[in-house]
Amino acid sequence: MERPVFTYHPNAYATAFETVDGVCDGCGQSRALRYRGPFYTTRKPDYLCPWCIADGSASARFEGEFTGWTDIEGVSPDPADPLPTIPREMLLEICERTPGYPSWQQSVWLSHCERPCAFLGFASGEDLLPILDQVRPDVAAVNPRYADGVLECLTRDGEMVGCLFQCLQCGQHRLHVDLG
Ligand SMILES: [Zn+2]
Ligand SMILES: [Zn+2]
Repeated sequence: MERPVFTYHPNAYATAFETVDGVCDGCGQSRALRYRGPFYTTRKPDYLCPWCIADGSASARFEGEFTGWTDIEGVSPDPADPLPTIPREMLLEICERTPGYPSWQQSVWLSHCERPCAFLGFASGEDLLPILDQVRPDVAAVNPRYADGVLECLTRDGEMVGCLFQCLQCGQHRLHVDLG
């Protein structure tokens, strides 16, 4: 059976699923891939398969989101602010039909060209060398004086993790730093 493809999380099988046999709490089928990313719900299931995430049934059944609505860059948590310029359908695809990524802190989903970016995976300082000029401004925005130091210290799985995104419209890379 072919695995679902996640437009905004193309490497989800490497970052957000583990190979574990079990019965999915969503569809009741025997599966071999268990979701291990965030799921914001009061009725958290023990086992979720990628199919139930991709078709939106897990989000509907458990009334939850894989990424919080206001954790998407461009969506203000303040209801008094103007509505996001990102089309609502794209925001819903991130929250309800795209696996989130495991993180130390509340995850952040970056945007570009008025649409959500794709999350490519975790990146170390070395991984970022070829695209340093693209991602440096994102680090400098948070750490104006220590951008280069932060970039050098990033690892894929340590206490300072680079979360790499790419705009599906123009190809621009974006970076969020997750601190443990
Ligand atoms: Zn399922
Ligand atoms: Zn773009």
